[in-house]
Amino acid sequence: MRIYNFSSGPAMLPEPVLEKAREEMMSLGGIGMSVMEISHRSAQFEKILHGAERGIRDLLDIPSNYRVLFLQGGASTQFAMVPMTFLPKGSSADYLVSGYWGKKALTEANREGHTQVIWDGQATGFSRIPAADELSFSPHASYVHYTSNETIDGVEFKYDLDAGGIPVICDACSNILSKPIDVEKYAIIYAGAQKNIGPSGVTVVIIRDDMLAKVPSGLHPLFDYRALAENDSMVNTPNTWGIYLIGLVCDWLKEQGGVSAIKLKNHTKAKLLYEAIDSSDGFYRGRAERSARSTMNVTFNLPTADLERRFAEEAAKNGMDGLAGHRTSGGIRASIYNAFPIEGVQELVGFMQEFAGQNS
Ligand code: PLP
Repeated sequence: MRIYNFSSGPAMLPEPVLEKAREEMMSLGGIGMSVMEISHRSAQFEKILHGAERGIRDLLDIPSNYRVLFLQGGASTQFAMVPMTFLPKGSSADYLVSGYWGKKALTEANREGHTQVIWDGQATGFSRIPAADELSFSPHASYVHYTSNETIDGVEFKYDLDAGGIPVICDACSNILSKPIDVEKYAIIYAGAQKNIGPSGVTVVIIRDDMLAKVPSGLHPLFDYRALAENDSMVNTPNTWGIYLIGLVCDWLKEQGGVSAIKLKNHTKAKLLYEAIDSSDGFYRGRAERSARSTMNVTFNLPTADLERRFAEEAAKNGMDGLAGHRTSGGIRASIYNAFPIEGVQELVGFMQEFAGQNS
């Protein structure tokens, strides 16, 4: 029996994707080998790699002056690789700290060079997102970095950041492919696959050609965006299994009607949960300000930490797993990415009402 997995990632994959992978596990397209057993230099894998790239390109409508890379090391490696490449001595980069992950990206950048924090939500408990007109950028910043959706805090930017010509670099781990975005507003978008794109172990990096041109020469090829782009993400052996699954997830998402259609479904799911919180007479308290509420990660508190623990435990006994909040923040977090079915959200809403009735 499958259960409803509210985990923040690795998260639920679409069932048809898992079925297809199972079907092809012993023999991919009749070749008598699985994707994990064929050379990454083979014609079969080349087709898979290009199919996955095409999938991401089509879904996000990525212009031709951007490369799509499938890298390893997780989004955390991008926290380091971005400043290692684009923050040379004597320069400075702007960082927005809207939550746990934005702060982590900043910490890593500070190992490399000089940064300027242009907005910090820590004082307000990472419960809000700045309005576009609250922000001003350092005129000579090499780039501005932000996190489009804070997975732990449950706050999300509802707009594509525009820094007036300064290259915008975005950690889009937890809301990429959940809605349309204007790729042309960004210099780099990166995301670990394990939420909306596929399994863990692959990081998708969408990078504009002019950024590739700025990459200093002489870098180790695995940390060199230009070398990675020139070698089709295959400076060394890529995560072939992960890339294969990404292709299948993209096919599935296209069948769902693409990112515009999934955005509507995602809104419907999130609305159900936020309404359950708001109509609970204060038993459940949403952590994010209403205007900043994430569509992907719904975070809330109960009256006590003990009730929160019991809530997560009892939900798990009822087939709903992964609801305990992050170890650093506690509370409850329901992650409802693209592949999470609405029936699971409806079930959680029913459980919330019952639990509140029994414990208020
Ligand atoms: N950024 C965000 C927004 C995340 O949610 C995560 C992980 O959950 C990361 C970065 C780190 O990703 P990884 O574990 O792939 O390094």
